Amino acid sequence: MRMKLQHFFLVVFAILFFLLVAIWSLSLFFSYAASQEASRSLGDFLLHWALQALWVIPLLLIPVVGLYALLFNTLIRPLLKITRNMQHDVIAQHPLHGRDKGYLTPGLKLLQQYFLRLKQLTKHDALTGLNNRIIFEERLQQAVLEGRRSGRRYALVFIDIDDFHQVNHELGPYIGDGVLRQLAKRLSNGLRETDSVARLEEDNFALLLEYAEQDQITNLVGKIYQYLTRNYTVYGRKIRIKVSVGVALYPDHGQDADTLALSADQALLRAQKGEWPVEFFKLHSNEAVHQGFSLIQSLVQAIENDEFKLVYQPVMDLQHHSTSYFEALLRWKDPEQHDPIENTIELAEKNQLIKPLTNWIIESACKQLQLLSHPSIKIAVNLSMIDLHDEQLPERVHHILQNYGVMPRQILIEITEGQIMQEPEQVIAILHRLSAMGIALLIDDFGTGQASLTYLRKLPVEKIKIDQSFVKDMVSNEEDRTIVEATINLAHTLGIKVVAEGVESSAIHELLMQMHCDYIQGYYISHPLEQDQILNWCDQQQVLTAS
Ligand code: C2E
Ligand code: MG
Ligand code: MG
Repeated sequence: MRMKLQHFFLVVFAILFFLLVAIWSLSLFFSYAASQEASRSLGDFLLHWALQALWVIPLLLIPVVGLYALLFNTLIRPLLKITRNMQHDVIAQHPLHGRDKGYLTPGLKLLQQYFLRLKQLTKHDALTGLNNRIIFEERLQQAVLEGRRSGRRYALVFIDIDDFHQVNHELGPYIGDGVLRQLAKRLSNGLRETDSVARLEEDNFALLLEYAEQDQITNLVGKIYQYLTRNYTVYGRKIRIKVSVGVALYPDHGQDADTLALSADQALLRAQKGEWPVEFFKLHSNEAVHQGFSLIQSLVQAIENDEFKLVYQPVMDLQHHSTSYFEALLRWKDPEQHDPIENTIELAEKNQLIKPLTNWIIESACKQLQLLSHPSIKIAVNLSMIDLHDEQLPERVHHILQNYGVMPRQILIEITEGQIMQEPEQVIAILHRLSAMGIALLIDDFGTGQASLTYLRKLPVEKIKIDQSFVKDMVSNEEDRTIVEATINLAHTLGIKVVAEGVESSAIHELLMQMHCDYIQGYYISHPLEQDQILNWCDQQQVLTAS
């Protein structure tokens, strides 16, 4: 058990008092023994002691108590006050640690801990335990000096969470703090002794990494970025965040700490405003080469080197026997050289890199429409969930349409059910904005998620596309047939049109006709077409309606 401060001083003064009494008693004894005859007994001495004590003890007690009172007022009371304040502070900062009250008992040990903590606070960030800006700037200065002396190279990495205020606003600051703590932990994990990490401000973090080769640092930054964008689980809630990363290299991008920090800041700004979430500082802003980590680099290069293409699969209008629209599907021009395209899309989605890819897809589709110059041809593009959380998407689409002189009704957007179910409010708001622009929306892979038809009524959706897993076997599988038919009927009662995908045989075609399905898509109609086959296809189909 830890002794309380006031008790400690009481004990000290009691011991002091008894010590004084003992010294006085001993001196009395010796003077008594010297002045009296030896025949006097111990009893006589005790009587003599008691008579003397009657006035000596109060005389001794007065200065001791006075001294105690003086010390209590000037030292003990202020110390008690400090420790109590500290107790409140610690409880306020760590409410969950309330049960650990033992260490909050005011005591000398605690006081020592408190001052240690105060010392730590001047160097550390209270929330994450990382270094703060003061220490980080010192380290940066030291690194620059060390670099000048020994030729070592360093990368200064600034990291910022995109729209962090939204996490705080929507989920509360307590959860926001949880995200910051976890992010700090991820940043510190696996750092080498020579590296430093700090929290500079609210959602701004910084890393100082020593490196030897440029490739090494681009890979390392890439890994850190991927690690930071993985889902966070805070108090049982799954949270996804986006981060922007700006990197400046010493000595290439700044020979002193200030210039280096300025360069990293500029790179961060470009990452926040541009398409790519990781940016290295560029000496000349018109420099053509995109520096960045390997995944970004490979995607940038693929787009810049024109390694992607779109193929177009027709969707047939069953009533009018005409092509309603073409679905644009992404492909590698040279698939042998690359991973399957689904993996590329998935990887880009996982790493928040889908935005530039989607831009390229929408732009290519619009370019195609401009080339075809046929107002009744429509193209559908597939969007990813990440796109639907991007508030700037409607504006971007608007600009692309304007640039290529494409009418909004010539573009359809296919989204999967699962996409809407994640953060539905935000997604629905963006869908409404797209719809208000005159773009038709379609729910893809319908039946594979949890969205009910009544739920869809809240959405500005024009069509649903029944997933091919129900369509493929509907001739032999009665259950699938029932699901398809019920979905068509229900959708029709809600005024929503139905596309069936994965139609591979005439038997399925027939069955869907009987069920009054509106549109079909699949290998039975056509495999996806190359762009130069579109007009040919239209000629063969003859009628193109604007339905
Ligand atoms: P999805 O949007 O449901 O696309 C339909 C997929 O089914 C396409 O595969 C298409 O080639 C295939 N398909 C069409 N008819 C048949 C058929 O009769 N039988 C069979 N077995 N398959 C058929 P693909 O092109 O491999 O695309 C797969 C998925 O990848 C797409 O599913 C879509 O979710 C995604 N995807 C494709 N292109 C893009 C894109 O440009 N952007 C995004 N975000 N995702 C895309
Ligand atoms: Mg689709
Ligand atoms: Mg589909």
